[in-house]
Amino acid sequence: MSKIIVANWKANLLPKESLVLAKKYSTLKSTKADIVVCPDFLAISSVAQLLKKSAVALGAQDCASFSVGSHTDDIPAIALKSIGAKYIIAGHSEKRADGDTDKIVSEKVQKILTEKLTPIICIGESASERRAKKTAAVFKKQLAAIFGSLNKAQLSQPIFIAYEPLWAIGSGKALIVEEAAELCELARKTALSFGASKIKVLYGGSVDTKNAAGYLQKNEIDGLLIGGASLNFQAFKKIINF
Ligand code: PEP
Repeated sequence: MSKIIVANWKANLLPKESLVLAKKYSTLKSTKADIVVCPDFLAISSVAQLLKKSAVALGAQDCASFSVGSHTDDIPAIALKSIGAKYIIAGHSEKRADGDTDKIVSEKVQKILTEKLTPIICIGESASERRAKKTAAVFKKQLAAIFGSLNKAQLSQPIFIAYEPLWAIGSGKALIVEEAAELCELARKTALSFGASKIKVLYGGSVDTKNAAGYLQKNEIDGLLIGGASLNFQAFKKIINF
């Protein structure tokens, strides 16, 4: 079964730089993984054009919690769909730190599913929650807020969960493979317990060329969400051909 590898470029690139990297991404092919790239909102339309005939799917880093209307400075899922996005990240820890509550993340997921796009829902515990052995409780709370409000039809749509321990993001301190596999499986079971049926679970947090293959060899891990290493084309190419 194909793995899923999602590149999150975050706000690291100027528009010109996004286009240069997107051109390189448009040459990517992997027999082992489906590739998704999430550029920033300023670059996403131009990147969409560049990737149109490529094997790389388009994703967005976030979306609004409402549909089209008078909402200053926000981008609804339907607009992202109209330029070709197939995936949208919701609840990234950097957005949660900026004020996205579980309720807001849930509203965003509703909008993404309404457009028949695939949400990539980020969940994960902080270092102190991990020390207090609260990881399972954090999963339950974050996923209950989302899955508890989905109807039957929405529960049967494809949904991705990205398990990203907060302390592992951008820190160079990736979670050991065995533990990542165990916790991805826990995230899957938790989502299934709310009635979801098409769940894929990705691991994210300091993935690089040295550790990626270890995660991807695990059956419990359906793929990866990659920040820093996705900005280096050669590194990313190596990762997708693990
Ligand atoms: C992320 O922010 O989702 C992420 C996984 O970043 P990094 O790969 O840089 O740790």
